[in-house]
Amino acid sequence: MMNFNENDIRTEAGFDEHFHDECGVVGVYAPGKEDIARSVYFGLHALQHRGQESAGIAANKAGKIQYYKEMGLVQEVFNDEIIERLQGDIAIGHVRYSTAGESHAVNAMPLVVYSKGGSIALAHNGNLVNANILRDELQDSGFFFQTTIDSEVIAALIARHIRENSLEDSIIKTLKIVKGAYALVITSGEKLIGVRDPNGIRPLCIGKTSDGFILSSESCIFSLLGARLIRDVEPGEMVVIEGGELKSVKYDKTAKKAGCAFEFVYFSRPDSDIDGRNVYLARKECGKTLAKECPVEADMVISVPDSGTVAAIGYAEASGIPYGDGLIKNRYVGRTFIQPDQRMRELSVRLKLSVLSENVKGKRIVMIDDSVVRGTTSGKIVKLLKDAGAKEVHLRVASPPVTDPCFFGIDTPDKKKLIAADHSVEEICKMTGADSLGYLSVQGLLDAVRLGDNNVCVACFNGEYPMELPELGRKFE
Ligand code: SF4
Repeated sequence: MMNFNENDIRTEAGFDEHFHDECGVVGVYAPGKEDIARSVYFGLHALQHRGQESAGIAANKAGKIQYYKEMGLVQEVFNDEIIERLQGDIAIGHVRYSTAGESHAVNAMPLVVYSKGGSIALAHNGNLVNANILRDELQDSGFFFQTTIDSEVIAALIARHIRENSLEDSIIKTLKIVKGAYALVITSGEKLIGVRDPNGIRPLCIGKTSDGFILSSESCIFSLLGARLIRDVEPGEMVVIEGGELKSVKYDKTAKKAGCAFEFVYFSRPDSDIDGRNVYLARKECGKTLAKECPVEADMVISVPDSGTVAAIGYAEASGIPYGDGLIKNRYVGRTFIQPDQRMRELSVRLKLSVLSENVKGKRIVMIDDSVVRGTTSGKIVKLLKDAGAKEVHLRVASPPVTDPCFFGIDTPDKKKLIAADHSVEEICKMTGADSLGYLSVQGLLDAVRLGDNNVCVACFNGEYPMELPELGRKFE
């Protein structure tokens, strides 16, 4: 989900230099039940890592949709009273990623539109690459937008088409027009619908409960909700759940599969499976391959917690160098606490991480990070370790150099802020102060992901985008 008219202010916080997914979606279908908003609430909790800015739930009772959405974490937005008000046996939910300030409650999701065909609630993870063009056209034809997000373009087009079509046909007509990355959950009437874009860039999977179905960005929520993973929604597939049955519609059979490799590097929870591959195992294999591709003599492997930990375990296993704790993370330093001014930028890494001096003193350390985007944080951590007495710090990155921005629903800085876009590995090593630096190769990542070399998007590592980008120069208009 992309904001129109947003400056790149989110990248100025300088606190957390990861790429960030911008959203997570959930849909629950349980005919005859009244209180499934609570299930969506728990599901959103489990997807909180995909978005911390706002949260929302829309509940559908026989076509009548009630919703609540607000800025904040899931547990801040909802309480018992609100959840109990959201009655229905179909419900969808959404979490949105926190930016550094350009955010408004009006942009929270689910979006609810009232059309001739009835009320429709929609939640979107992804980003359209032709949203500005479509928005201009809709505005020229007299449509007024309530929000500044691209997801409203999808909702507006569905609402427009539904005048003459069924809900399913309206969605398919809309999907023939919009381009980009989208995992959608939609509810209207007696239906819960899930859609994945023709490239399958963002994940969406299906779970089965004893009394219905669940759609989710990630399978990690299923055990919590008493569901089992049946399968992923296929790229170019729409699933329609109605009358207790799930029907599949392949609305696009032509596009090339291109699931996001970064879901395996960082975004998704390790206990999720995406397109049949477990994230923990893929991440561990990245670490093992990294050990083979970039070996080094050292005394201890440590991780940049928590996201580098699984790859670090893999690196230690493959290299024979013992794994140990070197950095302790303060889990209570959130993005909202950090203000993007210079003083906080300086303090940010020390607030978030501290060194276990007794463990690193006098040792040659291999430090595993999952990814390096701007490079500013890596240099600060290397310095922390050296100040604490580490003899050598060898930085190993369990993904390839990030050279290009993402246009598919991921918060990325401009290309000029990506350290690997115009610096060699040797230059980056020097800038971070590490004794050596090594990255996982693109092939190493593809091998770890195991979805087939041609079925995975690695565009931020090689600039080869899986689709044309008609609004390349208009990203932040
Ligand atoms: S460009 Fe990178 S972050 Fe974006 S979808 Fe492709 S692999 Fe994922």
